[in-house]
Amino acid sequence: MTENFTPTEKTKVRRLPKRGSFERKTIYQILDEAFICHVGFAVDAQPFVIPTGYARVGDNLLIHGSAASRMLRALAWDVNVCVTVTLIDGLVLARSAFHHSMNYRSVVIFGKAKVISDEREKADALYAFSEHIIPNRWAEVRPPTEKELKATLVLSLPITEASAKIRTGNPVDDEEDYVLDVWAGVIPVCMTAGEPVADDRLEDGIPIPPHVSNYKYYRR
Ligand SMILES: Cc1cc2nc3c(=O)[nH]c(=O)nc-3n(C[C@H](O)[C@H](O)[C@H](O)COP(=O)(O)OP(=O)(O)OC[C@H]3O[C@@H](n4cnc5c(N)ncnc54)[C@H](O)[C@@H]3O)c2cc1C
Repeated sequence: MTENFTPTEKTKVRRLPKRGSFERKTIYQILDEAFICHVGFAVDAQPFVIPTGYARVGDNLLIHGSAASRMLRALAWDVNVCVTVTLIDGLVLARSAFHHSMNYRSVVIFGKAKVISDEREKADALYAFSEHIIPNRWAEVRPPTEKELKATLVLSLPITEASAKIRTGNPVDDEEDYVLDVWAGVIPVCMTAGEPVADDRLEDGIPIPPHVSNYKYYRR
């Protein structure tokens, strides 16, 4: 695999191209930090954009869900798909309303997904999905039954046409605005995990396992 993706007509970053990146490492770092994507596809010329979980395994993005899901059934039919992933790092407060912005890292991927039908590959994909979102969970829970596996569709989207766009740092104001009596800077934002809350029906005497008590969203 090459280190960089080749920009295409679709992935060429047009606005502020210096914020764009086609570096595989950068794109994979963003994909590995997030776990929610938005999947865009059209059915009979009607666009849909559906939020869903994902995991990256090698050069593929895996998504899963009910075999009855319209999204998954549509994607299994060789349709063009556009997946986006966004991480918000800060709110950027400028001296003018116009120059307010956000610090972010985002990825856009184009391609066509394939159904993972091989049983072993499907089980591995579900394991990878679980480990990506909550490491070490899979080893503690009841594994899926054959019936549950049949009811689950797993799709793999090859990551071949992808771009990242990243904004970092301070606001960029118009030169004459820097003397204004207005606070400017960045409010950092991030998603964090709170204290675990036990299920009302948890059996007595079950301790909180380390993968739960130590869970950190920004753990990578
Ligand atoms: C954070 C997050 C993680 C998720 N992870 C998964 C996952 O891993 N696997 C999975 O299968 N699903 C996941 N979902 C649910 C997913 O968004 C869909 O609701 C689900 O896939 C069912 O889709 P469908 O194709 O059956 O819905 P459809 O039958 O296509 O939906 C019909 C209509 O319902 C509405 N709708 C559907 N989903 C949503 C939604 N999420 N929010 C608002 N309106 C909606 C839309 O108007 C849509 O056109 C996740 C949702 C969120 C928000």
